[in-house]
Amino acid sequence: MNDSVKKLTLAFCAAIAGTAVFAQQPAQQGDPKLTEFYEPVPKIVTPGATPSDAPSDAIILFDGKNLDQWRSGKSADTTQPALWTVADGAITVKKGTGSIETKQRFMDYQLHIEWKIPTNITGSGQARGNSGVFLASTGPGDVGYELQVLDCYNNTTYVNGQTASIYKQAIPLANACKKPGEWQVYDVIWTAPRFNDDGSLKSPARVTAFHNGVLVQNNTEVKGVTMYIGTPYYKKHGASPIKLQDHGDPSEPISFRNIWVRPL
Ligand code: MG
Repeated sequence: MNDSVKKLTLAFCAAIAGTAVFAQQPAQQGDPKLTEFYEPVPKIVTPGATPSDAPSDAIILFDGKNLDQWRSGKSADTTQPALWTVADGAITVKKGTGSIETKQRFMDYQLHIEWKIPTNITGSGQARGNSGVFLASTGPGDVGYELQVLDCYNNTTYVNGQTASIYKQAIPLANACKKPGEWQVYDVIWTAPRFNDDGSLKSPARVTAFHNGVLVQNNTEVKGVTMYIGTPYYKKHGASPIKLQDHGDPSEPISFRNIWVRPL
């Protein structure tokens, strides 16, 4: 094939490709009103003074005063009270009393929660300010889907267990940890898993999370309940509490404050 034939062939191919592209585009003419909608009208939500402040439709899970919205998550007995310490506008883990969980149950939601590693934190790896936000508590103790809380400011561990990991399932997209002693923020969008009548999985849970404003989980597909040993799996459940972990390691306990949720 000489050069002029090559050029002609290329021009012909480009023309065919161009025709194919144009053929797939719908007509961009006519009445613009055909693509304008007026319902359903989004509800009015009055935002907080800052993005950390609860909007008007949020359920306040902790306003700095008491644990009225919480119960013990240690056992299957849902009548047991939450025993963590409330002081200075924050909840602090009381080690040995077990995890705590919300009295209310949720499906899909937007969650805001702030947490702080104590300034005098000790330990290393997973034993340095370990706690966690179980985005759905599906059983007593540490059963559920855990967004890890840990001090990883100057602390290394397995990356699928570091701060903002979906524990042992999904490595965070960034390490956005602040220094111990500073308040940190998780903003989470949780889509609960759905199940068929026979108990099989219809659609997995999904999570998007920001740590101190940095995207750390981007529509991550959750593989099942958090497992310390072994492979995650799904077991049918419906609306579930949100649970905070009493990890039990010997480091100083961590604190939480300003917790609110918007069911979606
Ligand atoms: Mg943990």
